[in-house]
Amino acid sequence: MKVLVIGGGAREHALCRSLSQDSAVTELHCAPGNAGIAQVATVHPVDQLDGAQVAALARRLDADLVVVGPEAPLVAGVADAVRAAGIPVFGPSGEAARLEGSKAFAKDVMAGAGVPTARSYVCTTPAEAAEALDAFGAPYVVKDDGLAAGKGVVVTSDREAALAHAASCESVVIEEYLDGPEVSLFAITDGTTVLPLQPAQDFKRALDGDEGPNTGGMGAYSPLPWAPEGLVEEVLETVLQPTVDELRRRGTEFSGLLYAGLALTSRGTRVIEFNARFGDPETQVVLARLRTPLAAVLHAAATGSLDQLEPLRWDDGAAVTVVIASEGYPAAPRTGDVIEGLAEAEAADGTAFVLHAGTRADEDGRVLSAGGRVLSVTATGTDLAEARDRAYEAVGRISLKGGQHRTDIALKAASRAG
Ligand code: AMP
Repeated sequence: MKVLVIGGGAREHALCRSLSQDSAVTELHCAPGNAGIAQVATVHPVDQLDGAQVAALARRLDADLVVVGPEAPLVAGVADAVRAAGIPVFGPSGEAARLEGSKAFAKDVMAGAGVPTARSYVCTTPAEAAEALDAFGAPYVVKDDGLAAGKGVVVTSDREAALAHAASCESVVIEEYLDGPEVSLFAITDGTTVLPLQPAQDFKRALDGDEGPNTGGMGAYSPLPWAPEGLVEEVLETVLQPTVDELRRRGTEFSGLLYAGLALTSRGTRVIEFNARFGDPETQVVLARLRTPLAAVLHAAATGSLDQLEPLRWDDGAAVTVVIASEGYPAAPRTGDVIEGLAEAEAADGTAFVLHAGTRADEDGRVLSAGGRVLSVTATGTDLAEARDRAYEAVGRISLKGGQHRTDIALKAASRAG
């Protein structure tokens, strides 16, 4: 199978790493990729938001499967362009990707599917926003209705700050605050059959102890030793399958990766948000534990034959990933700094490895930072404590001027697991 992956972050590096280890994959390409991806795939400079360019590249490579990683190309309709060219594609249509691209659309689908989520109002004027804030009370949850790379949400007890964020967005969703721990659960679907993956937890705040601004994600781990038994089955039955069925019923069939961000509240499981693609950085830990070769799974989703797939096989152990971000992230990340120690950080036995997010190679072959999140240092182990130790040991070998990372990724879960 010749596979083309679209995107250039650590999620795409994780996808490419798994695909490169799959003996069914005879050729692996990525566009645009990054310095790390270039070590396992042939990279191509294309505009990932341009469906015609991506489809032309897929045709030229004679690709058997195109995997679209990030949300922006999906919302821009890149999967539609590839599908129209007659090439199997893993990723939903632009219309179905509105499940992520529009919070208001997602709320409407959830209402139609009877999926439990926070009560909410869509507001377009300051007066409407103020009324909605007062209806729910503090803490306030204010979400930009459009795509905001995980940074359009403000959760605050400061009414003025909540109003200011609402005023800065064209259209906002204001909703009730959900208490309780968060879980990310991914499912692979062909539009009918839904195959849940293993749950993970990510860390969205920039600083230790969940302090600081929201980010795209600073780390993740899987499995969740504290999660209630039967959680995956419950979410499949009450969230994932009804959502996929509702979208099909509406004529906006969703195939690809359905990501449910969940809160396990005192009143039951609630959906915080849906995403239309693999989450970053949870993908890094989920794929590190997947034993089933990846290409056939993605291809089955792209071709409507998931019901014929054998059950997925998983590693019993654990995986932890720690994101190294550049100085100034998320507000004003500085780029162009040399990264050292990448080879030293990798374990010879594969239990620790470095996935590149925002990196590029210069003319001398040095690897430079090229984005806010720079690396996703990932490790596996028999349990979370071991995976965590290995990940942080690897982080310690890497140097990046001004680089920042959290020191408490998976800390609580590892100690809870004993
Ligand atoms: P989202 O982009 O919708 O995932 O929101 C980003 C983060 O904001 C989530 O991971 C939560 O930590 C927080 N958040 C979003 N919605 C709510 C809510 N209704 N109640 C509490 N926290 C929320």
